[in-house]
Amino acid sequence: MQSLRNLLQQAQQSGSAVGHFNISDLVLLKAVFAAAQEVKVPVLVGLSEGEREFVGTRQIGALVRSLREEFDYPIFLNADHTHSLAKGLDAAKAGFDSIVFDLSGLPFEENVRQTRQAVEALKAINPAMLVEGEIGDIGTGSEIHESAPDLSKGLSTPEEAKQFVESTGVDILAPAVGNMHGMLRSMVAGETKKRLDIERIASVKQAAGVFLTLHGGSGTDDEDLRRAIAAGINIVHINTELRVAWRQGLEEGLAKHRDEVVPYKILPAAVDAVRQVVASRLKLFNSERHFAQGT
Ligand SMILES: [Zn+2]
Repeated sequence: MQSLRNLLQQAQQSGSAVGHFNISDLVLLKAVFAAAQEVKVPVLVGLSEGEREFVGTRQIGALVRSLREEFDYPIFLNADHTHSLAKGLDAAKAGFDSIVFDLSGLPFEENVRQTRQAVEALKAINPAMLVEGEIGDIGTGSEIHESAPDLSKGLSTPEEAKQFVESTGVDILAPAVGNMHGMLRSMVAGETKKRLDIERIASVKQAAGVFLTLHGGSGTDDEDLRRAIAAGINIVHINTELRVAWRQGLEEGLAKHRDEVVPYKILPAAVDAVRQVVASRLKLFNSERHFAQGT
């Protein structure tokens, strides 16, 4: 089985990106895995601190490992938005392949100092674990927002990207390039789309020289996503779109089986709704290559 680092290098060379999908229950995990198998591409599953608290850090480590081993399939596990070293160490011990160590809420110098310490401590537990650092402001909460926050002042510059990567030793950088967490109601309705600063992505990529992650990918214009990947994005995070599909699918399942109490008869509708969203995103992120399983 190849490592996540090899996989990202391969994606970079072929002009594709690895899809990262947040999960917080077995319905979502089943849907993401089924979609990846259907499209025949590798996939990254992520859980934030809140999502890990609900599912169990060690439990999700065991579940994802069991899929990887039983199906000999490149499915990887990321500890999304981790705000303390203690939670990061828990994830490292549970076998997570990567971590987003997110101190972007702190002043830049403090973010650099603590992220550098985290890189050392995490790699001491698992040298192969990839550590992602975050700079700039992309908002919080993968949910539906009533109004758009003003994130224009928090956009990442090539200079700070370069300085951050060189001083911390992170493997992956999450810049603020017009993306934001969550979706507006108009985006859920399909009336508006997020737009990305493609030139900024290209200049940050050149300055940083590491893998780049796009957070808050839900509701982004498809063409912008394609151009962002061509400009140097290696991982795209999708969460809110899955949550919206999860809820709609669940409501459909309940409506279809009014007197049913058997979960495994109701929940497949939710699995299917999420699977369709994930498959559509995976096809878009991997449109530049065809992945041969097992290589
Ligand atoms: Zn994120």
